[in-house]
Amino acid sequence: MEIKLEPLSSWPIEQKKPVIIAGPCSAESEDQMLQTANALTNIGNVIFRAGVWKPRTRPNSFEGIGPVGLEWMNTVKQQTGLKTTTEVANAKHVEEVLKNDIDIIWIGARTTVNPFAIQEIADALVGVDIPVMVKNPMNPDVDLWLGAIERFSKIGITKLAAIHRGFFSYGSVKYRNIPQWQVAVELKRRIKGIPMICDPSHIAGKRELIREVSQKAIDLNFDGLMIETHINPEKALSDKAQQINPHELNSILEKLVVRQKSTDNEKFTSSLQGLRTQIDDLDSELLEVLKRRMNVAELIGQNKKENGVTILQTDRWSKILENRIKIGGKYNLSEEFMTKLLKAIHQESINRQTKVMNDK
Ligand code: PEP
Ligand code: MN
Repeated sequence: MEIKLEPLSSWPIEQKKPVIIAGPCSAESEDQMLQTANALTNIGNVIFRAGVWKPRTRPNSFEGIGPVGLEWMNTVKQQTGLKTTTEVANAKHVEEVLKNDIDIIWIGARTTVNPFAIQEIADALVGVDIPVMVKNPMNPDVDLWLGAIERFSKIGITKLAAIHRGFFSYGSVKYRNIPQWQVAVELKRRIKGIPMICDPSHIAGKRELIREVSQKAIDLNFDGLMIETHINPEKALSDKAQQINPHELNSILEKLVVRQKSTDNEKFTSSLQGLRTQIDDLDSELLEVLKRRMNVAELIGQNKKENGVTILQTDRWSKILENRIKIGGKYNLSEEFMTKLLKAIHQESINRQTKVMNDK
């Protein structure tokens, strides 16, 4: 379905790129909120985030302060002028948030996975003009992410953004949630013009990695960053290891290299054009070779058919794989890439041969 979008410039926020959303994982006390927010005003117009209902993996951990946190958000807004955002996970949350004048809402990863919950939240938002940011689901399913955004679009929300926060993976070591950047890039391709925010905190899971994940997102032309920031991270009641203080946030943002999407520099433009022409030519050569290879595969299929031989010859396939990976290595093509490429080509050959076999 077509998703009608208003650009970020129509959101009630200051226009700059990247948009910065910062603030604690959880609202803990009015003091903690005000001290964090005040320190953030030095950075410029950040959007202030805090969760008041926390979807914790296991019970008996801090599950959020509840609606009183929204009143603190409001105090922050009045005292600092910062815009505010919080997570909602059901219709009751929406009602509380609207009562307390929160500027933007976001949907958490554990909610995006559930179409019933998303529909309930969407229904509670009918007729309301509030920006909605939708985090990716826990699992790398572009359609599920897209579907949630479509449900908000369907009830008339036009200020929509996506937040990429990585994906749960059993036994992941480096990241708390592995980024799988291609999933976010694919969503951007499927919804033209959707603002894309990265949440390096929940991807990283540890503060030391936040800088590199942020830079990567900016290199991929993301529109903004949501970074958990706490006046005293060591004392945080949730997500302690990944929160940074406002000073550290400032240092990360100052060192961020923001590259342009394009430039007027003529020399750059013409050299880029030249290189792109080369890529186009090489791609057409690649496709031509693939077409010829598939034609040969069909001839083999014909041969096998006439002689009553099976399509899949495991020995031959193992030899091809081994030999091509070795050659690929000499060309600086990684084993992972070669394996994926060869498997895709092999599958297409099998499909062609199957078709030949089945042809009357
Ligand atoms: C959060 O932003 O604090 C949060 C709970 O995030 P996620 O839904 O990405 O886990
Ligand atoms: Mn968190």
